[in-house]
Amino acid sequence: MKKVAVIIGAGPAGLTVAHQLLVRSDVQPIIIEKTGDIGGLSKTVNHNGNRMDIGGHRFFSKSDRIMDYWQQILPVAHLGDEREDTMLIRERISRIYFNRAFFDYPIELNWALLRNLGVLRSAKIGLTYARRACFPIKPELSLQDFYINRFGDELYNTFFKAYTEKVWGIPCSAMSADWGAQRAKGVSVMRALAHFFKTMVQSSHSIAQKRVETSLIRRFLYPKYGPGQLWEAVARTIEVQGGIVMLKHMVVGLQTSRQHVTRVLVCNEQGEQSWVEADYVFSSMPVKDLVAGMQAEIPAAVKTAAQQLPYRDFLTVGLLIDRTLPLIDTWIYIQEPEVKLGRLQVFNNWSPYMVADCRYTWVGLEYFCTQGDDLWQRSDADMRAFAVRELARIGLIDPSWVVDGTVLRVEKAYPGYWGGYEHFDEIRKFTDGYHNLFLIGRNGMHRYNNMDHSMLSAIAAVDLALKNSHDKAPLWCVNAEKEYHESREQSSVQG
Ligand SMILES: Cc1cc2nc3c(=O)[nH]c(=O)nc-3n(C[C@H](O)[C@H](O)[C@H](O)COP(=O)(O)OP(=O)(O)OC[C@H]3O[C@@H](n4cnc5c(N)ncnc54)[C@H](O)[C@@H]3O)c2cc1C
Repeated sequence: MKKVAVIIGAGPAGLTVAHQLLVRSDVQPIIIEKTGDIGGLSKTVNHNGNRMDIGGHRFFSKSDRIMDYWQQILPVAHLGDEREDTMLIRERISRIYFNRAFFDYPIELNWALLRNLGVLRSAKIGLTYARRACFPIKPELSLQDFYINRFGDELYNTFFKAYTEKVWGIPCSAMSADWGAQRAKGVSVMRALAHFFKTMVQSSHSIAQKRVETSLIRRFLYPKYGPGQLWEAVARTIEVQGGIVMLKHMVVGLQTSRQHVTRVLVCNEQGEQSWVEADYVFSSMPVKDLVAGMQAEIPAAVKTAAQQLPYRDFLTVGLLIDRTLPLIDTWIYIQEPEVKLGRLQVFNNWSPYMVADCRYTWVGLEYFCTQGDDLWQRSDADMRAFAVRELARIGLIDPSWVVDGTVLRVEKAYPGYWGGYEHFDEIRKFTDGYHNLFLIGRNGMHRYNNMDHSMLSAIAAVDLALKNSHDKAPLWCVNAEKEYHESREQSSVQG
């Protein structure tokens, strides 16, 4: 009889496991997904013909295997190509909006920058940068120290502080310096300068940019109709090859016996529960929920750490504007401290096919929040009105231009690296002890994984399962290597 793999979650990680198993083995994959959608955080939401991407997903990876895989699913085409199932090569243009002016991102030293900042602030930036280059803060205890040491006090206050604090909801001085090391190591004023010269000699057609910092990447792939298009195509392939995808089913428990997970408790939309027997379990559900659902003897320290794992949630307000806004960006970091708006996506510029009528501008206003807080609890109508007011307040629209809108709430968009995370090793030791249980993906590993990392973790997990290896260490190496550490986002959050 065929062995069965229960895969929790139909995001990039879960789908990759299923696809790998079908191609490489005769194990039967069963994906259990609690929502009605394919793609997890990387899905596309269609509102009245206008498509929203939760965040704005660049398809870029330093792994050739992942880049090739994406292009096998959706081949690259040029704008205007009539084929539907294709990917576009897009140019990244993202700027910072601060003091009612646009600044290039990554920040480039040029006359426009100096003009926008003014003589006084520019001088202060230069002086404080020079001071910290000679006298860095030691020891480097907080994220604030980390940024100031690399950028100087004034540049940090101008371009990093407000946005980072909007994202995480806590002061940079209260965040660990390790966070900066994971997300922004390798990005500095000197590197930004070096990058500027490098881009001047780079070919304008290549999408292979292995040696370029991730945050500085200028071109990326993007499915014609948003990221969900690619993941829906993967799910179709899985079903054609015999995999099973159960939408609107939620995993609520795992039964264990000695060092194995034996079956998984699944709840459908009507609240009916049933058990699914499993030879392997691959989990991309939040670690917090997984541990809470394990019917096993869980050490007290593990239980407490898992309960206290923190997350940051996310809310996007889609607004349809009845004219073409003069915005060239894919997204804009909103650094203005008087609004809660964190980032503005211009979906037209990700792909013109995201918008039903290209005479309109379809934007996504991104708010970082925590479930239960003031923003999260607002009614949709309230939140939409709030978002319109904020965009008008910073001078980007007139409220009368907005003709449609929608609100999307996304739970656990960002796994947090504080609280229970400090004891994550205990959790990992406990879950890794179950021989046939593999933690994969972003919330599945409580790691700031992008799509490619989630897929690479899935591939690593399948390797281990098929080799019957009990050593899970290779799985945890994904997105932990120096190459990845050194490549994260300058202003701390991309996705
Ligand atoms: C704002 C933002 C921007 C981003 N930008 C980028 C980018 O530009 N490039 C990039 O590569 N990545 C980006 N990412 C990251 C990307 O979204 C994730 O890496 C990727 O979606 C993670 O895939 P996953 O399968 O690990 O997890 P998820 O996408 O979270 O999928 C997990 C799935 O599990 C399901 N699930 C959860 N609990 C249960 C349960 N109990 N039972 C059954 N199902 C369950 C969920 O519903 C979900 O569908 C961004 C993320 C965000 C939030």
